[in-house]
Amino acid sequence: MNLEIVTIGDELLLGFTIDTNAAHLARELAALGVRIVRRTTCGDDATSIQSAVRDALDRTGAVITTGGLGPTADDMTKPAIAELFGQPMVLDPQILTNLQERWRKRFNHELPVSNHQQAMVPQGATILTNNFGSAPGIWLEDERGRWVAMLPGVPREMRGMLADTIMPRLRDRVPAGGAVIRSRTLRTANIAESALADRLGELARGIDGLSLAYLPGSDGVDLRLTSWDRDARATSAALDSAAALVREKVAPFVYGEGDDDLAALMLAECAARNATLAVAESCTGGMLGMRLTAVPGSSRTVLGGTIAYANEVKTRELGVPAAVIAEHGAVSEAVARAMATGVRLRFGSTIGLGITGIAGPDGGTPEKPVGTVWVAVDIDGDVRAVRATLPGDRHEIRWRAAQLVLDRLRKAFSRDMDATGWTSRS
Ligand code: ATP
Ligand code: MG
Repeated sequence: MNLEIVTIGDELLLGFTIDTNAAHLARELAALGVRIVRRTTCGDDATSIQSAVRDALDRTGAVITTGGLGPTADDMTKPAIAELFGQPMVLDPQILTNLQERWRKRFNHELPVSNHQQAMVPQGATILTNNFGSAPGIWLEDERGRWVAMLPGVPREMRGMLADTIMPRLRDRVPAGGAVIRSRTLRTANIAESALADRLGELARGIDGLSLAYLPGSDGVDLRLTSWDRDARATSAALDSAAALVREKVAPFVYGEGDDDLAALMLAECAARNATLAVAESCTGGMLGMRLTAVPGSSRTVLGGTIAYANEVKTRELGVPAAVIAEHGAVSEAVARAMATGVRLRFGSTIGLGITGIAGPDGGTPEKPVGTVWVAVDIDGDVRAVRATLPGDRHEIRWRAAQLVLDRLRKAFSRDMDATGWTSRS
């Protein structure tokens, strides 16, 4: 089945909002075997909406729109498309009652008359329940079976409605046994694209008709396998076996799949070992603590941390000897180790993590250029440290430094003590 997407909103054209709805729709629908053949974005005016939807309908007969369903004056998707279908707008008593109840319950207030238009729908339309907001979606179909599904602009509501109402409908309409497009992603950390390619050898060219993409980012390089032309069952099997082949070649560097977050995975590892965690951060300034505490349930594992930016603070709060800083410099193995151990002892945790580095853009020297970081992992007094020179701007260097120490914790847990760069002294 071919389908087109029309995303509606001036803010999309102006670039203030990134069109994440179109991307999400494309991914979800491809997995179902629906082919998105074109995406259009138009502004909040009836004429543009009508011409975009009319053209899309002429080409495919199947269109999903997002945006412009709300109660404000710039929300004109419903009447514009109703007119295109030659249908008048009529009041839907059920929607009106729902809205009135919602207002009484949530705002302790009667629904303002200006909001009544939210209950207006094109005659003959099917109402799509919105379990995440107030404006329902609309499914409008003509006698030739050409249809438009209108979804809200708010991404959370759009995603919910897609899953709750659109996917089940399309599943019924997509012919069984047709080709679906699905992907599987393996997440790697602290290995360069070229090194991955070397390890993958022949596999790098693609496996059994699946494509393999390298997607470098601040978390590391994601390896994405995509199947383009198999039916749903064959796709799962092909992805499973290809992912296993890839994993075998690069296993020590793979920390997760899909959108796995290394911080969350490490917290789970700590919890499984009944271990607690404390962090000592210099150049990352709390980023590691932020990532860890962003994970629900982290309070069971994370005791706390110290942002030890100034040398005096490293000494006073973490017990890093001033003489060590003077001798080796703040960005050094000795200081990273002392920070990890210091924070572990002061917080009474099982594990201490330390990060010190030069995030730039200033402060680099020939021996320690911008991007130089030392990170240390102290597990019950067994201390390991590693140095890296991280690429990118200030933000990326800081993010990568946090990712590096988390990945080193992963290696320590997996007893991969020979991992490149560990200084083995403890
Ligand atoms: P509301 O009832 O909140 O008015 P709506 O269906 O009318 O919802 P819009 O007013 O178009 O939707 O957009 C609501 C919010 O969703 C805005 O903050 C907008 O930036 C965001 N949004 C709209 N379209 C998209 C899109 N294609 N991708 C990402 N965000 C979007
Ligand atoms: Mg709106």
